[in-house]
Amino acid sequence: MDDREELADALRDLAGALRHHRDLGVTEVPLSAAAAAAPPPIDAAKALAAQEAALQGCTLCKLCRSRTNIAFGSGNPRAGLLVVGEGPGEEEDRQGKPFVGRAGQLLTKMLESVGFDRERDAYIANVVKCRPERNRNPEPDEVAACNPFLMAQLDTVRPGVILALGNFAAQTLLGTREGITKLRGRAYEYRSSILVPTFHPAFLLRNPGPEYRRMAWDDLKLAKREFDRLAALKR
Ligand code: URA
Repeated sequence: MDDREELADALRDLAGALRHHRDLGVTEVPLSAAAAAAPPPIDAAKALAAQEAALQGCTLCKLCRSRTNIAFGSGNPRAGLLVVGEGPGEEEDRQGKPFVGRAGQLLTKMLESVGFDRERDAYIANVVKCRPERNRNPEPDEVAACNPFLMAQLDTVRPGVILALGNFAAQTLLGTREGITKLRGRAYEYRSSILVPTFHPAFLLRNPGPEYRRMAWDDLKLAKREFDRLAALKR
């Protein structure tokens, strides 16, 4: 095959590949390998604000009937730590913000005990954004309806470390029925983050015993070590 034929072949292949990508819905092609590898920079604060706005008036599940406000998420949109709880309680429903009640106060102290600053280092969200009546567990259809919003938050903040609080968050994210006592104590690879499961502060407030607080502290120290390790890699 001469040079002209080889070039014609290569151009035909390229045209075929571009048509295939167009049919898949791709509208732009990055020009450099680096641009292809790195996703386009997004303004995380704007993206989260748009997601929160899109959720207003949501009727995708029955939790909409009893909620006062949607507690979408709060904190630093560029945080290295994303904390995931279960769902808003009474105070969160009133204020439209996650973890602002008693469990939230303990969460702030737990984070501080290992050197995290809640506002600077963390973005905080829940598996479901609307309060289940009388703080019952969210039901599978409610978790499924809200899951795309949690995934969008994760994809926007892109945290190094995810702290999953309690059975619900850990089981939902890891896709398992295993309980938190078995799941905690180690780090898991989860999408492009490290996930550390630990006890929910509301559980710790019920005084299950000092050994549970100690285990939670061990988990928080693990989360902080991973957070620091990943921060050092970025420098
Ligand atoms: N418990 C949760 O799981 N989330 C909150 O926001 C408050 C309490």
